Amino acid sequence: MTAARRGVRTLAGVTDLDRAGGLVRAATRVTVLTGAGISTDSGIPDFRGPQGLWTKNPGAQAMFSLDSYVADREVRVRAWRNRREHPAWTAEPNEGHRALVDLERQGRLTGIVTQNIDGLHQAAGSSPELVHEIHGTIWEAVCLQCERRVPMAEVLDRVDAGEDDPSCSTCDGIQKSATISFGQALDRAVLDASLAAARRCDLFLAVGTSLQVQPAASLCGIAIESGGSLVVVNAEPTPYDQVAAAVVREPIGEVLPLMVTSDAVGGRS
Ligand SMILES: [Zn+2]
Repeated sequence: MTAARRGVRTLAGVTDLDRAGGLVRAATRVTVLTGAGISTDSGIPDFRGPQGLWTKNPGAQAMFSLDSYVADREVRVRAWRNRREHPAWTAEPNEGHRALVDLERQGRLTGIVTQNIDGLHQAAGSSPELVHEIHGTIWEAVCLQCERRVPMAEVLDRVDAGEDDPSCSTCDGIQKSATISFGQALDRAVLDASLAAARRCDLFLAVGTSLQVQPAASLCGIAIESGGSLVVVNAEPTPYDQVAAAVVREPIGEVLPLMVTSDAVGGRS
């Protein structure tokens, strides 16, 4: 009996690590969708989970709305201060991120679509051209007027030097972290690359995402319509569990390395 068989049965689906591992190992073109769950082991809080910032304090969400950011200088001042305190600056990638680097080295990774803004996939060693940051990145700031992008560190240096709402050095426009706020359109090129990766895969692996935010979640359906299988790795039930070929509930940092390495799950007897 393998360790995987000790997995807990849930109402939403059978925990099925052996089956998931078999599907991942048999696949030649794997597209991965990652959400907050893959970064919580690195100390980045989940916004929408049971312990999430927005779940516990819905008012905090106002700071992430584009309208209030543009209209209210105080919101921007607060946002820059919050950016300075963000855990991403010191976070280290974990075993989950490293497993996806392994998958790339095996030549089987088609792309990583990530809802995370923390840059941890690239920090782990995933090729930047394979990482599609559908909700943007905290590592850059962008001018909302002329769209000039600068490293976030430059802007935070100006905040530290006493500017509480640093404007664009080129056009004096309002700057914002290069993340997608509520009410803001996604980057078309990133979305197109994500859609293409979902269509091109034979296995779509959704990791650490509740699959409740569109359009990221709909990539699961697109992958299935294009002939791929879906494997979900998430602690909580998702709306796509019913159409998944396997659903795994165990901790990401433990199971992802087992699922992607060649002689893993089945050999653990
Ligand atoms: Zn500008």
